[in-house]
Amino acid sequence: MKAAILEALDSITVKDIPEPVCGDREAILKVHACAVCGSDIRIFHYGNSRVQFPAVMGHEIAGEIVQTGREVTRVKQGDRVALGADVPCGTCYWCTNGMGTNCRINYAIGYQFPGGFQEYMVLNETTLNYGPVTPIPGHVSYEEAAIAEPLACAVNGLELASFGLGKSICIIGLGPIGCMMLELADMYGASKVFAAQRSRNRLRMAGQFSRSARFIATEEEDLAETVMKETDGEGVDLAITTAGTVKAHEDALAIVRHRGYVNLFGGLKNQPKLCIDSNLIHYKECFVMGSHGSLPVHHQTAVNLIAGGHVHAKQYLSRTFPLSDIAAALAYHESREGLKVIVKPS
Ligand SMILES: [Zn+2]
Ligand SMILES: [Zn+2]
Repeated sequence: MKAAILEALDSITVKDIPEPVCGDREAILKVHACAVCGSDIRIFHYGNSRVQFPAVMGHEIAGEIVQTGREVTRVKQGDRVALGADVPCGTCYWCTNGMGTNCRINYAIGYQFPGGFQEYMVLNETTLNYGPVTPIPGHVSYEEAAIAEPLACAVNGLELASFGLGKSICIIGLGPIGCMMLELADMYGASKVFAAQRSRNRLRMAGQFSRSARFIATEEEDLAETVMKETDGEGVDLAITTAGTVKAHEDALAIVRHRGYVNLFGGLKNQPKLCIDSNLIHYKECFVMGSHGSLPVHHQTAVNLIAGGHVHAKQYLSRTFPLSDIAAALAYHESREGLKVIVKPS
């Protein structure tokens, strides 16, 4: 079978490798769609402590179960399932208390476990016991189901930040996850939605995901000034940064309302450290927090939101590439011309 092997930094090759063998407590998934994520690009260029070469990346996956081990009961042959990325170990303090995103081991598909940029992949025992393996309703395509993974991260980000009905929000960064948060904010009946993005192209694409948002092109308009002016100097209940930049984090702290939440959702990679005036937090009595990844329950919610038509998954799918063109798929993602890029191994 074909697999895209990451052999070293900036080196990915599609190769013929033996098909995986199914253990008694494992299942084999035929991958039908695997979306490219920003974190795949980061691994590709900079590596990751959880990824050992040679590796198979890809964690936004949907496919069909083609084989199951004797002892497997969770899935059966012919099941269509979507996978999330983070797999709780199931035994540490965090996992046994429902907080698997803080797992001491922090397993993830496409990291320690081989991912979806290959024709067939193993769902190992830990994944089948504790991981995000969600059945796909018949009317949802594999491509749509694949992007339940980033949507699950968006759901976790809003939930952990205590976002609720009728609150106000500013989403800084309108890549695919920012756009998903736009759709979620409307679903929450947000009182006011600000959505900020530097590049005009991304801003234009985001327009289709919200009727009510006040879009801010940060190249032309000062984000903090605009938000404060248009909220009568109050700020927003939640400022969430899907763009991992120091500036985004600074803006978020400046525009959060008293007793509001700042979720530093986008991690900073290869950038200077954030230097903040702690008095901002002190006097606002605001909550500055972070979130990353998702739990299996968020993945289930994400599939439900897509299946119910609440999140318009089809509108995120910009281009599809065969596995043989993996390098082009990664490059297209990096060009930021589209939203989600799908790789189809079969
Ligand atoms: Zn992802
Ligand atoms: Zn754990």
